[in-house]
Amino acid sequence: MIIVSGPSGAGKGTLIRRVQAVFPFVRTATSATTRPMRPGEQDGREYHFLTDDEFLLHVGHGDFLEHVTYAGNRYGTLREEVERHIRDGDSVILEIELRGARALRDALPDAVSIFVEPPSMDELIRRLRARDTEAEADIQARLAESLVELGARQEFNYQIRNDDLDSAAAEMARIVDAVTRSV
Ligand code: ADP
Ligand code: 5GP
Repeated sequence: MIIVSGPSGAGKGTLIRRVQAVFPFVRTATSATTRPMRPGEQDGREYHFLTDDEFLLHVGHGDFLEHVTYAGNRYGTLREEVERHIRDGDSVILEIELRGARALRDALPDAVSIFVEPPSMDELIRRLRARDTEAEADIQARLAESLVELGARQEFNYQIRNDDLDSAAAEMARIVDAVTRSV
């Protein structure tokens, strides 16, 4: 399993989509969240969009490998989503924030972890604003989380600086290729 973490807006999702275009057997597990759907998102594709009560029901049933509250909303990795891909013989890549990444690294010591970082705080702010998917208060909450996340970059097996997108995507592809060949 590959864990990808890093500040919101650093480019995790963009890089993972690039890697999947080259390695289609690398599957993402659709997480559950209580955050509102963004324009263009689809329930069951980017996330399973749940109410708080629905999310807590899954917690009660032990359906999550890990779950957290991040920037005011709940997020969790559904056990069944991960196990389904493994049963199919595919590799799994999980895009999760720092506390979830820590929990999964503890539970699955063989997991390889990648930290995606922006070239600078100014560029991170620019990307978050340009993405135009969150209100300013939500952007501020994400930036506050980012400071903590950046301080933990060395906990990860690899760090990728996402400055030039093509170079960063090639770097992630090299890591994913090496990891998936060795299992
Ligand atoms: P994350 O998944 O880490 O929150 P996204 O993949 O949504 O981040 O990227 C945030 C924004 O930055 C998106 O609008 C994306 O198109 C843009 N972006 C990603 N990588 C780069 C890059 N290397 N250079 C410029 N913009 C980028
Ligand atoms: P976003 O709202 O931008 O889609 O995601 C916000 C943050 O939550 C990102 O850092 C993303 O990686 C993280 N995230 C997405 N799904 C999960 C999950 O299942 N568990 C955890 N711990 N974090 C997640």
